[in-house]
Amino acid sequence: RGDTPEPPAGKPRLTVLSGPSGVGKSTVVAHLRKAHPDVWLSVSATTRRPRPGEKHGVQYFFVSDDEFDKLVANGELLEWAEFAGNRYGTPRAAVLEHLERGEPVLLEIDLQGARLVRKAMPSARLVFLAPPSWEELVRRLTGRGTEPPEVIERRLAAARTELAAEEEFDTTLVNTSVEDVSAELLALMRIA
Ligand code: 5GP
Repeated sequence: RGDTPEPPAGKPRLTVLSGPSGVGKSTVVAHLRKAHPDVWLSVSATTRRPRPGEKHGVQYFFVSDDEFDKLVANGELLEWAEFAGNRYGTPRAAVLEHLERGEPVLLEIDLQGARLVRKAMPSARLVFLAPPSWEELVRRLTGRGTEPPEVIERRLAAARTELAAEEEFDTTLVNTSVEDVSAELLALMRIA
């Protein structure tokens, strides 16, 4: 469709998309951004090594442990969390700049990060992306094929805990199809 979201009528709100690892957050976000390039997605810093095809500054800013330490020490991260042995964080300045311009801002982060954003910015809208079923989530986590078994095990354990967090969120979207969910997410972001 390619139509442009209206800037929110009131103060711009930050939208946070979170949910268990493997539920399809990044696929939904990639789909949404293709159709609506004006939706600004924060690029996180991470100490994780790039997966094949991932580019510095696109999916993530890939940084060393020392560089991440500096970002934390200098207060440059809006939130950060450790997930499955790596650290991930949201650069603060860019998020604030886009919000001040009244642009839609989207974060795709893990559950711990979503909780920290809620504290830092109580006006943020927290959206939980739920799998259609537990079996489907296991299938997706196992099927990515890019991670060693012990990493998948850690992610499944995290996912089990994360599913219970749904009640802390403002809204739940069930990831039945990437098209439907990204349309629903976009509609939510248009509500001030
Ligand atoms: P992956 O390694 O699969 O790209 O991401 C692992 C998890 O880290 C996902 O749940 C993803 O949403 C989350 N994540 C990505 N960036 C950030 C961030 O900046 N902060 C937090 N808290 N989590 C993030």
